[in-house]
Amino acid sequence: MAKVAINLSTGSIQQEEVIVGIDLGTTNSLVAYIHPEDKKPIAINDQGRGTIVPSVVHFTQTGETIVGTEAKDYLTTDPANTIYSVKRLLGKSYKDVGEHTDYFGYKIIDDDSEGLVKIRVGDKFFSPIELSAEILRELRERAEHSLKTPVNRAVITVPAYFNDSQRQATRDAGKLAGLEVLRIVNEPTAAALAYGIGIDPNEEKTVAVYDLGGGTFDISILSIHQGIFEVLSTHGDTYLGGDDFDRAIINYWIQNNQLIADTINQDKSLQQELRLKAEEAKRTLSSQPIYTATINGTIDCHIERHTFETLIAPIVARTIESCRQAMTDAKLQPEQIDAVIMVGGSTRVPMVYDGVSEFFGKAANNSLNPDEVVSLGAAIQADILAGNRKDILLLDVTPLTLGIETMGGLMDSIIPRNSKIPTKAGRQYTTSVDGQVNMKISVYQGERDLVKENRKLAEFDLKGIPAMPAGFPKVDVNFILNADGILKVEAIELRSGVRQEVEVKPQYGLTDEQVEQMLMDSITHAKEDVSTRMVIEARTTAEQMIYQVERFVEKNGEHLTAEEIELTRTNVQNLKNVLDSGDKDAILKAVDILEEQTSPFAERVMQISIKQAMTGKKIE
Ligand code: ADP
Ligand code: MG
Repeated sequence: MAKVAINLSTGSIQQEEVIVGIDLGTTNSLVAYIHPEDKKPIAINDQGRGTIVPSVVHFTQTGETIVGTEAKDYLTTDPANTIYSVKRLLGKSYKDVGEHTDYFGYKIIDDDSEGLVKIRVGDKFFSPIELSAEILRELRERAEHSLKTPVNRAVITVPAYFNDSQRQATRDAGKLAGLEVLRIVNEPTAAALAYGIGIDPNEEKTVAVYDLGGGTFDISILSIHQGIFEVLSTHGDTYLGGDDFDRAIINYWIQNNQLIADTINQDKSLQQELRLKAEEAKRTLSSQPIYTATINGTIDCHIERHTFETLIAPIVARTIESCRQAMTDAKLQPEQIDAVIMVGGSTRVPMVYDGVSEFFGKAANNSLNPDEVVSLGAAIQADILAGNRKDILLLDVTPLTLGIETMGGLMDSIIPRNSKIPTKAGRQYTTSVDGQVNMKISVYQGERDLVKENRKLAEFDLKGIPAMPAGFPKVDVNFILNADGILKVEAIELRSGVRQEVEVKPQYGLTDEQVEQMLMDSITHAKEDVSTRMVIEARTTAEQMIYQVERFVEKNGEHLTAEEIELTRTNVQNLKNVLDSGDKDAILKAVDILEEQTSPFAERVMQISIKQAMTGKKIE
């Protein structure tokens, strides 16, 4: 039985708190919820303004902010104060977007304080998080207005290739908009859920989610088993989408109409008008064979579907190439895909639908509205988290291995890739030098054996370890990866209890290509990594050995003969000589020789000290 509360001030019935699902898109954003009566997800359409809220923020002269369709109108008239595609900048540094800055009509700043980009509007600076929060705030207000109830909690979706930094930024944006973000969910996971895939925990399915939006394209191959959504592979192009279709139409009109060609460069309003007409043409051609219109009653704009398809064929072909690549990466054949799901407004283009269906050899699913499908899935996830569907447990996995640097620059993995999240894992370490009071913990992400080939996420010092001989301190390093893929690392020295922790908020984003590249590299370099690792391990052993032997001789020289000391020196020198040779066998051989020669020493010294101790006990 659902609880019903009466709002005493208005006399209206107040529903139980709803948790909304939000698709925070590059071009368009939506908010959805589960209808309390029929339990079906539904995208919120406040005041009949439509379910789609363009992800555009405009700052007026008077300092107000406008979000959505009204803001979109300022894109051409006031580009410097109108921010679009801010999702592209979330969690990114200036370095990451540097080569694409001409894509944005507004000013992107590198203030270099934290390395993350800022956007300048007038004399104010905004972070992408703050701007995303403006969009989320608008969605929240629409939801509250339409549902007539406060909305404080949400599930927000992100692309599967978003890294920790981008996920954390999305979560922060939610917080800033006054939302408690219960979970960050992958967009393809949400789309699959909307189609009811993965709701039955006994179901095993492999699905392809093809998402062609306004300015981005991605394909994700998911394996769903026991309620776990595993991203097998993802591919795409973060600068390819429906906007390219619009541009193709504009160019076609310019080329085929002298009047347009002659005036386009000087006439801003013509540019704007052409852009609107091109998008209208594209949408019309999704259901009609021809589009005709005139601008200002004089300029004729028409295009046939056949012509449009010729124009966009190379773009569609590129997306199919990505599908092929994603399938290769997932090591799957098209016939092994159980379902293909279409996401994003641009999948309404018949040529896109046909191309994808043909590639996978089966009719793609497009029965749900491709603009809304991600938000609907997010609403289902929200409902699950609200505890309304107790039978379902949803898990995600971490895409890259997480670990720390150990001696010699080696990567010691703590949470392997594809681990279900949330998860927790740890390992014990010790010091390598006598009296060491600080221990540097460097956290890395990646599949390579050497940390320098991986990506550094964080670094901190565990300070205040009491001075002890090398090998004595016991330092537990624990990794706690929460359900959003955000990592907390803690280090504790067990003997003293000194403790230090960091939450990992990496400064630099990784593109999906980079994640892929990292995975690919780990495969390509697997062999050479193993041999490098062996050399480094041999070296580390050797360095420790030299350190211990030299220290021993220093302390206990009195119990050794001059010849023994001389021989030890020679063997240590021989070991030092091969240390940098990169020859693992030579190093280990020299270690063995030194070890064999010096191992009786320790015993002798021990016996001497025992004897002395016994002597000391004697009562005269
Ligand atoms: P994003 O996920 O990037 O925010 P969307 O999924 O909302 O983007 O897709 C927006 C794109 O879909 C725009 O380029 C828009 O023109 C295009 N689009 C919407 N409806 C249609 C249609 N009927 N035919 C073709 N393209 C469409
Ligand atoms: Mg989208």
